[in-house]
Amino acid sequence: MRPVPSRRDFLRFLSFGSVALMSGAGLPSARAEALEQNGGRKLGVALLGLGKYSTGQLGPALRQTTLCQLTGVVTGHPEKGAQWAHDYGLAAKNVYNYDNFDQIAHNPDIDIVYVVTPPAIHPEFVIRAAKAGKHVISEKPMATSVADCDAMIEACRNAKVKLSIGYRLHFDPYHRELMRLQRDKDFGVFTKITGDRGFIMQNRVWRIDKKLAGGGPLMDLGIYIIHGACMAAGATPLTVTAHEEPKQKPELFNEVEETIDWTMNFPDGAVCQAVTSFNHEADHFRAEGPRGWFELQQHAFTYRGIVCVTSRGPLHYDPINQQAAQMDDFADCILSGRDTPVPGELGRRDIRIISAIYEAARTGKKVAV
Ligand code: NAD
Repeated sequence: MRPVPSRRDFLRFLSFGSVALMSGAGLPSARAEALEQNGGRKLGVALLGLGKYSTGQLGPALRQTTLCQLTGVVTGHPEKGAQWAHDYGLAAKNVYNYDNFDQIAHNPDIDIVYVVTPPAIHPEFVIRAAKAGKHVISEKPMATSVADCDAMIEACRNAKVKLSIGYRLHFDPYHRELMRLQRDKDFGVFTKITGDRGFIMQNRVWRIDKKLAGGGPLMDLGIYIIHGACMAAGATPLTVTAHEEPKQKPELFNEVEETIDWTMNFPDGAVCQAVTSFNHEADHFRAEGPRGWFELQQHAFTYRGIVCVTSRGPLHYDPINQQAAQMDDFADCILSGRDTPVPGELGRRDIRIISAIYEAARTGKKVAV
């Protein structure tokens, strides 16, 4: 039976998360100040790649942002560009294609280019955007190799522009609370971490094309568990072991894994056991310490609807738009000159871990990260 919480526990529980939300661009007054410093002008964002994520999430989120707004698009399909210009009131001159994209350098309406294509193509456009003098956000996974991540980081450093990764969960209140718990050790050091993320892939799309995706569910979905586990452990794993499960649909998954499970060993003895798949539905994460546990029971890594329970009871935050929070924070970083909490180096770290997991699965050996 769960012990009845004391009044002190209850008061501490109420303060859960309120701390997490009180940082950086989250404060309305800080945002107003940042905007004022820019003469009231919101930063202009151009979305590059108008697929499902741009259409369903990022475009709508840019209607809710307070420090930035959609001012341009880059697309290989002129009809899509025209539709977006109509829907978002974009100037015709701010609709680019992949060939004339470099001319964006001369467009003062656009401060940030957000690259939302399949991962293998992120490096080319991040580097071109940096050379055009624009700040850049690259969607996750950052690239398909550590060498490409290095080239992206270097291009942005050379051009003196900021580079960020689309790690929206960093701005979600539940995940921020996980980071706070790691920092403040309310439950002690999280030593036992588990995660499962999957969905059933029906069609042959770029997500199972090794050249474009770099891998299968580990690249697309497992990366969330890796990121969450590093938040819970407050560290990067030292070693990994991994095992690829036999394929149920070998005709579909002839280039990439269908299901893979892996273990990450962190400093301080924390261990994360995880599985990711394109052949089962799952969205779950749990971190356990000696004095309590934190569990994202449903929609752990999804845009909304996270169900969170801790050993102190259920945890509930008002829903936020993760993408709007992420993009506003990046705009605030540019306006205020502070560093982004989700820089290219973090994207690179996760590609480094993923590469080690693939190597461990291939060799059957424990691999150092
Ligand atoms: P999508 O297939 O719906 O869209 C991809 C877009 O890239 C399309 O507009 C396509 O025309 C364009 N593209 C440009 N060059 C291409 C090429 N050579 N081959 C194929 N397409 C090309 O995919 P999506 O779901 O929008 O995913 C895009 C990116 O966003 C990926 O990196 C993905 O991992 C990421 N994503 C992130 C989240 C998140 O929650 N952060 C969610 C979904 C997708």
